[in-house]
Amino acid sequence: MSKIIDLRSDTVTRPSAGMIAAMSAAPVGDDVWGDDPTVNRLQAMMAEATGKEAALFFPSGTQSNLAGLMSHCERGDEYIVGQMAHTYRWEGGGAAVLGSIQPQPIEQEADGTMPLAKIATAIKPFGPGLGTHFARTRLLTLENTWGGRVLPQTYVLEAAELARGKGLNVHLDGARAFNAAVASETTIAEILAPFDSASLCISKGLSAPVGAVLVGERAFIERAHRWRKMLGGGMRQAGYVAAACIYALENNVERLHDDHENAAALAAGLRDVEQITVLAQATNVVFLNIPEAHAKQLEAFLKDRGMLMQGVYAARLVTHLDVSLADVDAFVVAVKDYFNGVAK
Ligand SMILES: *Cc1c(COP(=O)(O)O)cnc(C)c1O
Repeated sequence: MSKIIDLRSDTVTRPSAGMIAAMSAAPVGDDVWGDDPTVNRLQAMMAEATGKEAALFFPSGTQSNLAGLMSHCERGDEYIVGQMAHTYRWEGGGAAVLGSIQPQPIEQEADGTMPLAKIATAIKPFGPGLGTHFARTRLLTLENTWGGRVLPQTYVLEAAELARGKGLNVHLDGARAFNAAVASETTIAEILAPFDSASLCISKGLSAPVGAVLVGERAFIERAHRWRKMLGGGMRQAGYVAAACIYALENNVERLHDDHENAAALAAGLRDVEQITVLAQATNVVFLNIPEAHAKQLEAFLKDRGMLMQGVYAARLVTHLDVSLADVDAFVVAVKDYFNGVAK
């Protein structure tokens, strides 16, 4: 059977032969006891690369974000977050359910930013003489990239300054922050500099099978370590997956450029198709508007040809390590074939 071209997400990559070799060669220990050398190496690497004091390995970005929120906020505290942000909308309500932390969502602009004036108004008065009405606003959470877009760094700096001025900490959901760094031709440390903490996924474009890393100050990471245990994230010979993450960091960061170029080529190709609209393309993500009458049939037509896309929440195509420029071209041809067939 020929290759599947899977544009549903950058989470679908399979470990390469090199990555599997690195995994099988990894020295391991019991990470719950802190003696897995490969996990420790990954954590040291990530702390160093991000310019933060410490790092902690997690099975998923959801758990890493949640432990991060729980390490910043106590029961009855509040975090300010985008209405459509992953840490609010796409993580099952974990902060409220498991952390007793109240989200204060704010409507975002199309570029993912929350207007600074709205952030300022959402921060509740708290302290002696200010009454007992409100949750204590403790944290501002941003997300970069946002729908593939890199958040403007000037905005990030202004938002962080505003939050700090009000005594809040600032957390980044940086699931795809490496894409932001590569697209901006800067370092991950620079992207993360305005933040007290960040959660980074290694299982998205970086193509490890499993893994996320939380970074921040040492005392913060120590708190997160205890929450990770409580959340069931203590893993034993986790060095096998940490080795995949190290391999990903050493081999798959710079090549994110290719994914960004392939996404641009995909968007360019699809702009020639009259019946669909390319709404946006940034880094490795393309958003489309497909007429409702065609969405399901197109998906089925492509599936028959070994091409996968998902149009459930929004027609979003994502390029990654297992999608080549030739694959992108083949995908565009198939979309054109579908519409030519329909027209006949
Ligand atoms: C994928 C993702 C996460 C974490 O997801 P996991 O699947 O739990 O690793 C968090 N935020 C954003 C923006 C994401 O895309």
